[in-house]
Parts: sequence; structure tokens; C-alpha cells
Amino acid sequence: MLIKNSIFPNNQAQEKKIAGIYEDINPGFINLLRNDLVNPKPLMICGGGTSSMCAADGHWTLDLRRNFQEIKFDNVKKEISIEGGVSMQRLIEKTSEFNRSFPIGLSAETGIGYILTGGISPLSRKYGLAIDNILEISGIWGNGEKFKLFKPNEKGNKNEKLKWKGLCGAAPFLAIITSLRLQTQQLKPICGWETSLSSSQLAETIAMAEEWPNSASLYWIWGNNIKAYGVYELDTLEDFYTYQDLINQIPKTNDFITYNIENISRIRKLKDSGIINKSLNTQHSEVLGLLGPKTNNKISIMVKDIEKLIKSRPSESSFISSQQLGGLTMNKGIDSTSFIHRDSMWKPWITGSWDSGDIQGRQISLNWIEDSWEALKSFFPGVHLAQMHPHLKWHRQEINAAFKNWLPELKVLKSNYDPKGILPPL
Ligand SMILES: Cc1cc2nc3c(=O)[nH]c(=O)nc-3n(C[C@H](O)[C@H](O)[C@H](O)COP(=O)(O)OP(=O)(O)OC[C@H]3O[C@@H](n4cnc5c(N)ncnc54)[C@H](O)[C@@H]3O)c2cc1C
Repeated sequence: MLIKNSIFPNNQAQEKKIAGIYEDINPGFINLLRNDLVNPKPLMICGGGTSSMCAADGHWTLDLRRNFQEIKFDNVKKEISIEGGVSMQRLIEKTSEFNRSFPIGLSAETGIGYILTGGISPLSRKYGLAIDNILEISGIWGNGEKFKLFKPNEKGNKNEKLKWKGLCGAAPFLAIITSLRLQTQQLKPICGWETSLSSSQLAETIAMAEEWPNSASLYWIWGNNIKAYGVYELDTLEDFYTYQDLINQIPKTNDFITYNIENISRIRKLKDSGIINKSLNTQHSEVLGLLGPKTNNKISIMVKDIEKLIKSRPSESSFISSQQLGGLTMNKGIDSTSFIHRDSMWKPWITGSWDSGDIQGRQISLNWIEDSWEALKSFFPGVHLAQMHPHLKWHRQEINAAFKNWLPELKVLKSNYDPKGILPPL
């Protein structure tokens, strides 16, 4: 079906004047891909619609949310199959029914784009990135050819390994993913905490987190004030005592709280409590995700640099946040997926916001994002393309920082499987 409009959760996407929406992948749609009839390019894809990239002025969007909702759990193999329009909320609800879990991110609102772009979860230190848990991928290459690929083993042929590597972390440039089969983990209780911190307390907490066991993970936001959050997944009673020690040691202030939850979708959301007067519906933003290793003895300098950036932020809803990787995310070789920054322990991201329609405010915010990237590059040299920006001048630079030495081979894959550039450019 072809319709004129749709509702996207992302404010910016919602305000775009799009050409129209495709909701089916039928022979007519495949014909458009095969014969290079998508105009203008690229075709935008909407999985969950939470990023600004699912719609663009004058462009067509393929919206998977209505017709790609199938979700099936295999209770023997403990695997789950999801179609391309399934949200992380539905994924976790389904796995929970069977006492299983999946490393979803800080918000369950996101769609399959979360998994395809890497998928950094507070549980990733224990279970790897979301892409590390994919077993099978089905979809349509940008050239209109259908495919179904299985996770290759050591002896797999080179071409299959290359395609798998491309799709795990760089799928949005190569293909439309219609379904995934994923491995799941035993559902276990999760304890969490949250507290406001001073900048020196944040530095202290980061230093501690760099030594935590893989069951523990830190995330924080710095805007009007600093708020830090932690989670700890419990396997044994012993773990509970380790968790108790950990929360006894961390710096905390008056608003410190702890909580227990039955699954990862219920963790506390990052919230900049200082924002009072803004209607979130009128705020637009761009987000740039960085990646870098353990900060070790550079933590205080890094925190001071962030403090300076926060002082110069363009609006009260612009902020810098971070989440933790490490543990199992570091165990994978850089050859198996397009997420090549396997030495990363931190993913800080910079959110620059402005009021809808404020062209000057937008430019000031984009400049601040760029300046912040420059200031933090020495600590966090990589980029996590959870949000990509083909419409901004730094796109080439972000692609280079995301894929580094893998980029030339990725471009070869792109020229084979999306030769007409139907999907976003590399
Ligand atoms: C509140 C919030 C919290 C977040 N927390 C985390 C986090 O903890 N960890 C993390 O890693 N990321 C996180 N993100 C980033 C998020 O995972 C990415 O922005 C992701 O791309 C969103 O996917 P989506 O399907 O919801 O969005 P969409 O806007 O629908 O899709 C984003 C892009 O993904 C690609 N895409 C989507 N579906 C397909 C498909 N079927 N085939 C091919 N390409 C596709 C397209 O290029 C599309 O433009 C968060 C985002 C938000 C808004």
C-alpha cells in the first residue's frame, strides 16, 4: 500500500514534508529497487521511527511498523524471530513471557534500527552487543535481490562472512532487513540505582565503573545537572553482596535511590531534571555518538573538558550523556561485525537541541556538537553510527571514524549490493 503520511515518534521526522510512504514489500516495490526507480534517493527506512533519519523532505519512506509485526519464540531453541517493524518493547515482552531476555538499549521505544546499528545495552558487558546475538538475517539488498543469511562459523566461506560483517552494524547502507532470528538469555533479576552527582563525584564513579564486574554497568547524563544511573544483573546470592558493596562505595547525594526490576525495559530513563519550561514536542535535535576505550588516568581531564562544553551548550535541552561497554563487547574480533571499535568502554553521545523552526538555533547547536566532538576526540576517537547524518557536512568524517580500515571493503559490498545508491550513502 502507498499512503501519503504517517506518524513518527521522532519530532523532526514528523515535521518533514515527505513524498509518501510504502508499507509493503511487494513485487511492485521490488521492481522499483531493481530498476532504479526510487526518486529521489535515498529511500528512507522506518523501523521504530525514533531517529530523525526515517523521513526526509521530498523523500519516500518504507515504513515497516504496520505490516512487519510478526514475532515468534522457539521454546526449544530459546530463540526469537522478529520482523522489521517490531519494537524493542514487544521483543522484551515476548522474551519475558518465556523467562528469557535480550540486551535491549536504554529505551524500549526503539525499533530494529537499534539492533542493526550495533545495539549497546546496559547488559552488553555480559551478553555482547545486540548484533552479537543475531543468528539469521533476512531482507532485500538495495539492488532488489532477496536474501537469507545464517551466522557463519569459522569455516564459513569468505563471501558469506563479508556479507554478514557488513549487515551486522552497517545494514542501513546495504539492505532492507525484513526479519532477524536472535538468541536470548535467561531472564534474571536486575537491581538499579540513580543519584545526582558533582563533577568530581562523576569522575570518581567512572573510575570505579572501569573496574566493575561485567554484570554492572553505568550510564549518566550531564545537562542542567549530572545524574548517574547503574544496573546490576544478579546471577547468584554472591552477586547480591557484590552489588551491595558496589552501591556502598559509589559517591551519592540526597536523592540516591535503589530499585529492583523484572526486566531490562524497566530501567530508569536518562532524565535531565533541570528542564522545566520546554515542551518536548517542539524540540528538535541531532545526536552524535562517540566511542572510546577506558579513560584510566585521564578521567579528571576528560570530565573537566566535558564541564567546559556543558557551560557553553546552546540550549537547556542540549546535553552530553554516556553509557558503558566493555566485558563481552570487547571479546569479539574486529573481523566479525562492522562494529570495529571493540576496544571501547564508553559511548558518550552529544545531543544538540533547538526549537522547531529556529534556523539560527539549529546552526548554533550543530556547531556545538562539532566543537564538542573535536574536544572529546582524543578520549573517544571512534563513532557509533546509531544516528547517521547524510544531510550534514560531517557525514564523511563520521563514516570514516565509524568504519576506519574496514570502509574500503564495505564500499565494495555497497557497490555490489546497492550499486544505484537506493539506501543512504557511505
Ligand atoms: C530514547 C532513545 C534511547 C536510545 N538508547 C540507545 C541505547 O541504549 N543503545 C544504542 O545502541 N542506541 C540507542 N539509541 C539509538 C537508536 O538505537 C538508534 O537511533 C536506532 O537507529 C533507532 O532505530 P529505530 O528503528 O527506532 O529508528 P528509525 O528512525 O526507524 O531507524 C533509524 C535508521 O535505522 C535504519 N533502519 C531501521 N530499520 C531498518 C531496516 N529494517 N532495514 C535497514 N535499515 C533500517 C535506517 O537507516 C533508519 O534510518 C537510542 C535512541 C533513542 C531515541
